[in-house]
Amino acid sequence: MSDYYQLLEVDRSAGSEEIKRAYRRLARQYHPDVNGNDPEAAERFKEISKAYSVLSDPDKRQRYDAYGDAGVDGLPAGAADPFAGFGASFDDLLGAFFGGGDPFMGRPRTRSRARRGDTIGMRLRLPFTEAVFGTSKDVRVRAAAPCQRCGGSGAKPGTEPTVCSRCNGSGQQRTVRQSLLGQLVTATTCSVCGGSGHEIRSPCQECRGQGLLMQDSTLTIDIPPGLDDGSQVRYPGRGHAGQYGGPPGDLIVELAVDPHPVFERRGDELLCSLPVPMTVAALGGSVELETLDGIETVEVEPGTQAGTVKRFRRRGVPHPEGRGRGDLLVEIAVQTPTHLGEQQRALLRQLAQLRGEEVDPYAGGLFARLKGGGR
Ligand SMILES: [Zn+2]
Ligand SMILES: [Zn+2]
Repeated sequence: MSDYYQLLEVDRSAGSEEIKRAYRRLARQYHPDVNGNDPEAAERFKEISKAYSVLSDPDKRQRYDAYGDAGVDGLPAGAADPFAGFGASFDDLLGAFFGGGDPFMGRPRTRSRARRGDTIGMRLRLPFTEAVFGTSKDVRVRAAAPCQRCGGSGAKPGTEPTVCSRCNGSGQQRTVRQSLLGQLVTATTCSVCGGSGHEIRSPCQECRGQGLLMQDSTLTIDIPPGLDDGSQVRYPGRGHAGQYGGPPGDLIVELAVDPHPVFERRGDELLCSLPVPMTVAALGGSVELETLDGIETVEVEPGTQAGTVKRFRRRGVPHPEGRGRGDLLVEIAVQTPTHLGEQQRALLRQLAQLRGEEVDPYAGGLFARLKGGGR
Protein backbone atom coordinates (compact mmCIF):
# COMPACT_ATOMS: atom_id res chain seq x y z
CA MET A 1 0.00 0.00 0.00
CA SER A 2 1.36 3.41 -0.96
CA ASP A 3 2.01 6.11 1.52
CA TYR A 4 -1.22 8.03 2.19
CA TYR A 5 0.56 11.36 2.32
CA GLN A 6 2.18 10.70 -1.03
CA LEU A 7 -1.14 9.63 -2.49
CA LEU A 8 -2.69 12.93 -1.47
CA GLU A 9 0.47 14.79 -2.46
CA VAL A 10 0.76 16.51 0.89
CA ASP A 11 3.41 16.87 3.54
CA ARG A 12 3.28 14.74 6.69
CA SER A 13 2.75 17.96 8.59
CA ALA A 14 -0.21 19.05 6.46
CA GLY A 15 -3.19 20.43 8.36
CA SER A 16 -6.72 19.12 7.96
CA GLU A 17 -7.71 21.98 5.64
CA GLU A 18 -4.78 21.29 3.38
CA ILE A 19 -5.63 17.58 3.30
CA LYS A 20 -9.21 18.34 2.46
CA ARG A 21 -8.19 20.70 -0.34
CA ALA A 22 -5.77 18.17 -1.74
CA TYR A 23 -8.38 15.47 -1.69
CA ARG A 24 -10.96 17.64 -3.35
CA ARG A 25 -8.54 18.51 -6.11
CA LEU A 26 -7.59 14.87 -6.70
CA ALA A 27 -11.14 13.61 -6.42
CA ARG A 28 -12.14 15.99 -9.19
CA GLN A 29 -9.32 14.60 -11.24
CA TYR A 30 -9.89 10.90 -10.71
CA HIS A 31 -13.55 10.40 -9.87
CA PRO A 32 -15.13 7.81 -12.22
CA ASP A 33 -17.87 10.29 -13.12
CA VAL A 34 -15.19 12.45 -14.62
CA ASN A 35 -13.09 9.70 -16.13
CA GLY A 36 -15.71 7.40 -17.54
CA ASN A 37 -14.66 3.79 -17.28
CA ASP A 38 -10.93 4.32 -17.07
CA PRO A 39 -10.00 1.50 -14.66
CA GLU A 40 -6.72 3.15 -13.73
CA ALA A 41 -8.42 6.34 -12.66
CA ALA A 42 -10.98 4.34 -10.70
CA GLU A 43 -8.23 2.49 -8.90
CA ARG A 44 -6.43 5.73 -8.17
CA PHE A 45 -9.65 7.25 -6.91
CA LYS A 46 -10.15 4.36 -4.49
CA GLU A 47 -6.64 4.83 -3.18
CA ILE A 48 -6.85 8.55 -2.62
CA SER A 49 -10.27 8.09 -1.03
CA LYS A 50 -8.90 5.49 1.36
CA ALA A 51 -5.98 7.79 2.13
CA TYR A 52 -8.33 10.66 2.77
CA SER A 53 -10.64 8.59 4.99
CA VAL A 54 -7.66 7.87 7.20
CA LEU A 55 -5.88 11.21 7.18
CA SER A 56 -9.02 13.24 7.67
CA ASP A 57 -9.83 11.41 10.88
CA PRO A 58 -7.53 12.61 13.68
CA ASP A 59 -7.72 9.24 15.48
CA LYS A 60 -6.94 7.15 12.45
CA ARG A 61 -4.28 9.55 11.31
CA GLN A 62 -2.52 9.27 14.64
CA ARG A 63 -2.56 5.49 14.48
CA TYR A 64 -1.45 5.54 10.87
CA ASP A 65 1.43 7.83 11.76
CA ALA A 66 2.44 5.49 14.59
CA TYR A 67 1.84 2.08 13.06
CA GLY A 68 1.34 2.57 9.34
CA ASP A 69 -1.32 0.48 7.59
CA ALA A 70 -1.43 -1.90 10.51
CA GLY A 71 -2.74 0.90 12.65
CA VAL A 72 -5.80 1.49 10.50
CA ASP A 73 -6.58 -1.90 8.99
CA GLY A 74 -9.43 -3.71 10.57
CA LEU A 75 -10.65 -0.51 12.07
CA PRO A 76 -14.20 -0.41 13.20
CA ALA A 77 -16.67 2.17 11.92
CA GLY A 78 -16.69 1.16 8.32
CA ALA A 79 -13.01 1.25 7.52
CA ALA A 80 -13.48 -2.37 6.44
CA ASP A 81 -15.52 -1.11 3.55
CA PRO A 82 -14.46 2.41 2.85
CA PHE A 83 -16.12 2.32 -0.56
CA ALA A 84 -19.65 1.78 0.62
CA GLY A 85 -20.70 5.04 -0.97
CA PHE A 86 -19.16 4.33 -4.32
CA GLY A 87 -22.51 4.24 -6.03
CA ALA A 88 -23.20 7.84 -5.20
CA SER A 89 -22.44 10.39 -7.86
CA PHE A 90 -19.48 12.69 -7.68
CA ASP A 91 -21.65 15.71 -7.02
CA ASP A 92 -23.63 13.94 -4.33
CA LEU A 93 -20.53 12.91 -2.52
CA LEU A 94 -18.80 16.22 -2.75
CA GLY A 95 -22.02 18.00 -1.93
CA ALA A 96 -22.54 15.96 1.19
CA PHE A 97 -18.90 16.26 2.00
CA PHE A 98 -17.92 19.79 1.30
CA GLY A 99 -21.12 21.57 0.52
CA GLY A 100 -22.94 24.08 2.67
CA GLY A 101 -21.35 23.93 6.07
CA ASP A 102 -19.07 21.17 7.12
CA PRO A 103 -21.18 18.34 8.53
CA PHE A 104 -18.30 17.31 10.74
CA MET A 105 -17.96 20.65 12.37
CA GLY A 106 -21.57 20.78 13.45
CA ARG A 107 -22.20 20.32 17.12
CA PRO A 108 -25.59 19.33 18.39
CA ARG A 109 -27.24 22.51 19.46
CA THR A 110 -30.39 22.82 21.45
CA ARG A 111 -33.07 24.34 19.35
CA SER A 112 -35.72 26.51 20.78
CA ARG A 113 -39.08 24.80 20.86
CA ALA A 114 -40.77 28.10 20.30
CA ARG A 115 -42.54 28.35 16.99
CA ARG A 116 -44.07 31.38 15.36
CA GLY A 117 -47.85 31.36 15.19
CA ASP A 118 -49.68 31.01 11.89
CA THR A 119 -51.28 33.80 9.95
CA ILE A 120 -55.03 34.20 10.09
CA GLY A 121 -56.72 35.43 6.93
CA MET A 122 -60.24 36.76 6.84
CA ARG A 123 -62.54 38.73 4.59
CA LEU A 124 -64.47 41.70 5.88
CA ARG A 125 -67.43 43.35 4.18
CA LEU A 126 -67.40 47.12 4.40
CA PRO A 127 -69.90 49.72 3.28
CA PHE A 128 -68.45 52.00 0.59
CA THR A 129 -68.34 55.13 2.73
CA GLU A 130 -66.58 53.39 5.64
CA ALA A 131 -63.90 52.12 3.29
CA VAL A 132 -63.39 55.61 1.89
CA PHE A 133 -62.98 57.33 5.24
CA GLY A 134 -61.58 54.44 7.27
CA THR A 135 -63.27 52.90 10.24
CA SER A 136 -62.87 50.74 13.28
CA LYS A 137 -64.51 47.32 13.39
CA ASP A 138 -65.05 44.54 15.87
CA VAL A 139 -64.32 41.19 14.25
CA ARG A 140 -64.84 37.68 15.57
CA VAL A 141 -61.66 35.66 15.31
CA ARG A 142 -61.05 32.00 16.07
CA ALA A 143 -57.37 31.79 16.94
CA ALA A 144 -54.92 29.55 18.76
CA ALA A 145 -54.17 30.88 22.23
CA PRO A 146 -51.80 29.58 24.91
CA CYS A 147 -53.39 26.80 26.97
CA GLN A 148 -54.28 28.12 30.41
CA ARG A 149 -53.86 24.76 32.14
CA CYS A 150 -50.19 24.20 31.25
CA GLY A 151 -49.26 27.81 30.62
CA GLY A 152 -48.51 26.97 27.01
CA SER A 153 -45.75 24.48 27.72
CA GLY A 154 -47.80 21.48 26.61
CA ALA A 155 -46.54 19.50 29.60
CA LYS A 156 -48.85 18.26 32.32
CA PRO A 157 -48.79 20.77 35.20
CA GLY A 158 -45.98 19.81 37.54
CA THR A 159 -43.91 18.29 34.74
CA GLU A 160 -41.52 19.83 32.25
CA PRO A 161 -40.70 19.08 28.67
CA THR A 162 -37.44 17.19 28.47
CA VAL A 163 -34.67 17.28 25.94
CA CYS A 164 -35.49 14.83 23.17
CA SER A 165 -33.86 11.49 23.88
CA ARG A 166 -33.47 10.63 20.21
CA CYS A 167 -31.76 13.77 18.93
CA ASN A 168 -30.41 15.25 22.15
CA GLY A 169 -32.21 18.48 21.46
CA SER A 170 -30.74 19.16 18.05
CA GLY A 171 -34.07 18.49 16.35
CA GLN A 172 -32.25 16.53 13.68
CA GLN A 173 -31.35 12.93 13.27
CA ARG A 174 -27.91 12.44 11.83
CA THR A 175 -27.30 9.30 9.91
CA VAL A 176 -23.62 8.52 9.56
CA ARG A 177 -22.63 6.29 6.71
CA GLN A 178 -19.17 5.23 5.80
CA SER A 179 -18.27 5.84 2.22
CA LEU A 180 -15.25 6.07 0.08
CA LEU A 181 -15.04 9.70 1.02
CA GLY A 182 -15.05 8.85 4.67
CA GLN A 183 -18.08 9.55 6.79
CA LEU A 184 -21.15 10.70 4.98
CA VAL A 185 -23.60 12.45 7.25
CA THR A 186 -27.18 13.12 6.35
CA ALA A 187 -29.45 15.09 8.62
CA THR A 188 -33.21 14.66 8.74
CA THR A 189 -35.84 16.10 11.03
CA CYS A 190 -36.05 14.09 14.23
CA SER A 191 -38.99 11.69 14.12
CA VAL A 192 -39.55 11.74 17.86
CA CYS A 193 -39.78 15.47 18.55
CA GLY A 194 -40.62 16.64 15.04
CA GLY A 195 -37.63 18.97 15.07
CA SER A 196 -38.47 20.82 18.27
CA GLY A 197 -35.66 19.13 20.21
CA HIS A 198 -37.96 18.53 23.14
CA GLU A 199 -40.12 15.68 24.21
CA ILE A 200 -43.22 15.93 26.30
CA ARG A 201 -43.44 12.73 28.31
CA SER A 202 -46.68 13.57 30.09
CA PRO A 203 -48.70 15.87 27.87
CA CYS A 204 -51.17 18.37 29.27
CA GLN A 205 -54.59 16.80 28.89
CA GLU A 206 -56.29 20.06 28.08
CA CYS A 207 -54.23 20.84 24.96
CA ARG A 208 -52.82 17.34 24.33
CA GLY A 209 -49.31 18.64 24.54
CA GLN A 210 -49.76 21.33 21.93
CA GLY A 211 -49.63 24.17 24.43
CA LEU A 212 -52.34 25.88 22.38
CA LEU A 213 -56.12 25.84 22.30
CA MET A 214 -58.48 27.40 19.79
CA GLN A 215 -60.36 30.33 21.21
CA ASP A 216 -63.02 32.67 19.92
CA SER A 217 -62.46 36.30 20.64
CA THR A 218 -63.48 39.71 19.42
CA LEU A 219 -60.80 42.01 18.09
CA THR A 220 -61.17 45.68 17.38
CA ILE A 221 -59.28 46.54 14.23
CA ASP A 222 -58.69 49.89 12.60
CA ILE A 223 -59.18 50.13 8.87
CA PRO A 224 -57.17 53.01 7.43
CA PRO A 225 -58.98 55.36 5.03
CA GLY A 226 -58.78 55.11 1.28
CA LEU A 227 -58.70 51.34 0.88
CA ASP A 228 -60.56 49.76 -1.97
CA ASP A 229 -62.24 46.46 -2.66
CA GLY A 230 -59.68 43.64 -2.45
CA SER A 231 -57.20 45.62 -0.33
CA GLN A 232 -55.42 43.64 2.37
CA VAL A 233 -54.54 45.02 5.77
CA ARG A 234 -51.96 43.25 7.92
CA TYR A 235 -52.21 43.39 11.70
CA PRO A 236 -48.89 42.13 13.07
CA GLY A 237 -49.15 39.81 16.03
CA ARG A 238 -52.95 39.49 15.91
CA GLY A 239 -52.94 36.01 14.35
CA HIS A 240 -52.55 32.60 15.99
CA ALA A 241 -50.44 32.49 19.15
CA GLY A 242 -46.99 30.98 18.72
CA GLN A 243 -46.38 27.49 20.04
CA TYR A 244 -44.39 27.05 23.24
CA GLY A 245 -43.84 30.74 23.72
CA GLY A 246 -43.13 31.60 20.09
CA PRO A 247 -44.18 34.97 18.69
CA PRO A 248 -47.74 35.25 17.40
CA GLY A 249 -48.59 35.26 13.70
CA ASP A 250 -50.30 38.08 11.86
CA LEU A 251 -53.91 38.74 11.00
CA ILE A 252 -54.57 39.67 7.39
CA VAL A 253 -57.94 41.19 6.55
CA GLU A 254 -59.06 41.40 2.96
CA LEU A 255 -61.73 44.01 2.34
CA ALA A 256 -64.87 43.35 0.35
CA VAL A 257 -66.24 46.83 -0.26
CA ASP A 258 -69.90 47.21 -1.20
CA PRO A 259 -70.64 49.32 -4.25
CA HIS A 260 -72.32 52.69 -3.71
CA PRO A 261 -75.60 53.54 -5.43
CA VAL A 262 -74.32 56.96 -6.53
CA PHE A 263 -70.53 57.08 -6.32
CA GLU A 264 -67.86 55.09 -8.04
CA ARG A 265 -64.15 55.05 -7.37
CA ARG A 266 -61.30 55.52 -9.81
CA GLY A 267 -58.15 55.44 -7.70
CA ASP A 268 -58.46 58.33 -5.29
CA GLU A 269 -61.16 60.03 -7.38
CA LEU A 270 -64.86 59.76 -6.71
CA LEU A 271 -67.14 59.85 -9.73
CA CYS A 272 -70.83 60.48 -9.94
CA SER A 273 -73.46 61.58 -12.37
CA LEU A 274 -75.75 64.49 -11.48
CA PRO A 275 -79.17 64.67 -13.14
CA VAL A 276 -79.95 68.28 -14.18
CA PRO A 277 -83.27 69.29 -15.74
CA MET A 278 -83.02 70.46 -19.32
CA THR A 279 -84.32 73.90 -18.38
CA VAL A 280 -81.66 74.35 -15.67
CA ALA A 281 -78.96 73.21 -18.06
CA ALA A 282 -80.19 75.78 -20.55
CA LEU A 283 -80.96 78.68 -18.22
CA GLY A 284 -78.38 77.98 -15.50
CA GLY A 285 -79.03 77.44 -11.82
CA SER A 286 -77.80 75.45 -8.90
CA VAL A 287 -78.43 71.84 -7.99
CA GLU A 288 -77.79 70.20 -4.65
CA LEU A 289 -75.75 67.03 -4.53
CA GLU A 290 -75.48 64.82 -1.49
CA THR A 291 -71.79 63.91 -1.40
CA LEU A 292 -70.07 61.58 1.07
CA ASP A 293 -69.14 64.74 3.04
CA GLY A 294 -72.63 66.23 3.04
CA ILE A 295 -74.64 68.51 0.77
CA GLU A 296 -72.68 70.26 -1.96
CA THR A 297 -74.21 72.93 -4.20
CA VAL A 298 -73.34 72.45 -7.84
CA GLU A 299 -73.53 75.63 -9.90
CA VAL A 300 -74.80 74.94 -13.40
CA GLU A 301 -73.84 77.66 -15.89
CA PRO A 302 -76.39 78.65 -18.55
CA GLY A 303 -75.98 76.43 -21.61
CA THR A 304 -74.31 73.53 -19.82
CA GLN A 305 -73.98 70.55 -22.11
CA ALA A 306 -74.67 66.97 -21.16
CA GLY A 307 -71.45 65.23 -20.15
CA THR A 308 -69.84 68.37 -18.68
CA VAL A 309 -67.64 67.36 -15.75
CA LYS A 310 -67.29 69.55 -12.68
CA ARG A 311 -64.34 68.93 -10.41
CA PHE A 312 -64.50 69.40 -6.64
CA ARG A 313 -61.00 69.52 -5.23
CA ARG A 314 -60.24 67.29 -2.24
CA ARG A 315 -63.76 65.88 -2.03
CA GLY A 316 -62.65 62.46 -3.24
CA VAL A 317 -60.99 59.53 -1.50
CA PRO A 318 -58.44 60.25 1.25
CA HIS A 319 -54.99 58.81 0.68
CA PRO A 320 -54.34 55.72 2.82
CA GLU A 321 -51.07 57.15 4.06
CA GLY A 322 -50.37 60.74 4.76
CA ARG A 323 -52.56 63.65 3.96
CA GLY A 324 -54.50 64.71 0.97
CA ARG A 325 -57.56 63.54 -0.86
CA GLY A 326 -58.45 62.94 -4.44
CA ASP A 327 -61.11 64.98 -6.26
CA LEU A 328 -64.80 64.49 -6.75
CA LEU A 329 -65.85 64.55 -10.40
CA VAL A 330 -69.49 65.32 -11.12
CA GLU A 331 -70.77 64.64 -14.60
CA ILE A 332 -73.81 66.63 -15.60
CA ALA A 333 -76.58 64.41 -16.97
CA VAL A 334 -79.14 66.64 -18.71
CA GLN A 335 -82.59 65.20 -18.32
CA THR A 336 -84.89 65.33 -21.30
CA PRO A 337 -88.44 65.91 -20.06
CA THR A 338 -90.93 63.13 -20.53
CA HIS A 339 -94.71 62.88 -19.96
CA LEU A 340 -95.30 66.36 -21.34
CA GLY A 341 -98.72 67.92 -20.90
CA GLU A 342 -100.49 69.69 -23.81
CA GLN A 343 -99.44 73.14 -22.59
CA GLN A 344 -95.82 72.07 -22.10
CA ARG A 345 -95.73 70.61 -25.55
CA ALA A 346 -97.11 73.82 -26.98
CA LEU A 347 -94.48 75.87 -25.18
CA LEU A 348 -91.67 73.67 -26.39
CA ARG A 349 -93.00 73.84 -29.95
CA GLN A 350 -93.10 77.58 -29.67
CA LEU A 351 -89.52 77.62 -28.43
CA ALA A 352 -88.45 75.35 -31.22
CA GLN A 353 -90.11 77.67 -33.72
CA LEU A 354 -88.36 80.69 -32.24
CA ARG A 355 -85.04 78.91 -32.53
CA GLY A 356 -85.74 77.70 -36.03
CA GLU A 357 -85.72 74.13 -34.82
CA GLU A 358 -89.32 73.34 -35.64
CA VAL A 359 -89.93 69.75 -36.30
CA ASP A 360 -92.35 68.70 -39.02
CA PRO A 361 -93.27 65.13 -38.34
CA TYR A 362 -94.42 64.69 -41.95
CA ALA A 363 -91.24 65.93 -43.59
CA GLY A 364 -88.47 63.79 -42.20
CA GLY A 365 -87.87 66.00 -39.21
CA LEU A 366 -84.90 67.81 -37.83
CA PHE A 367 -82.57 64.87 -38.20
CA ALA A 368 -83.28 64.51 -41.89
CA ARG A 369 -82.90 68.25 -42.43
CA LEU A 370 -79.57 68.39 -40.63
CA LYS A 371 -78.37 65.62 -42.89
CA GLY A 372 -79.32 67.81 -45.83
CA GLY A 373 -82.24 65.71 -47.01
CA GLY A 374 -85.07 68.11 -45.98
CA ARG A 375 -86.65 71.12 -47.61
ZN1 LIG B 1 -52.08 22.59 28.01
ZN1 LIG C 1 -35.79 14.89 18.67
